[in-house]
Amino acid sequence: MSDLRELYQELIVDHSRSPRNCRAIEDADLSAEGYNPLCGDHVILYVKLEDDKVKDISFQGNGCAISTASASLLTEVLRGKTRAEAELLFKSFHDLVTGANSQDANSGALLGKLKVFAGVSEFPVRVKCATLVWHTLKAALDKVRQPVSTE
Ligand code: ZN
Repeated sequence: MSDLRELYQELIVDHSRSPRNCRAIEDADLSAEGYNPLCGDHVILYVKLEDDKVKDISFQGNGCAISTASASLLTEVLRGKTRAEAELLFKSFHDLVTGANSQDANSGALLGKLKVFAGVSEFPVRVKCATLVWHTLKAALDKVRQPVSTE
């Protein structure tokens, strides 16, 4: 557990205990559902668009601290972003948690507080927890109707 504790940094703990934007959006333009069978994480993401920008974004579901904190932080960071920025964030976040060097020079600034998830790269099993909501976001943007699964 001590290894895991290091990874549960303050911001992650805070967001997992009191997740932001944890509700449904009744008239959402986009929504998608994702599962991580390995850990039992489940998330439904709702997106309301206006002029191709994220006007409102929220999630519901249940899962471990990492998946919940990741979903909560995603909804905070994505608000006001364009579809193109969301796609770039998806790539940057994926590179961050898998320990890959990002090809995009702007990704560090774009990621902002999402950088707290950098420690996840040392725990391969947890990478799926952290990226679940991002794969679900991608599915929502691509209008994939089937629930996405990390397996
Ligand atoms: Zn998990």
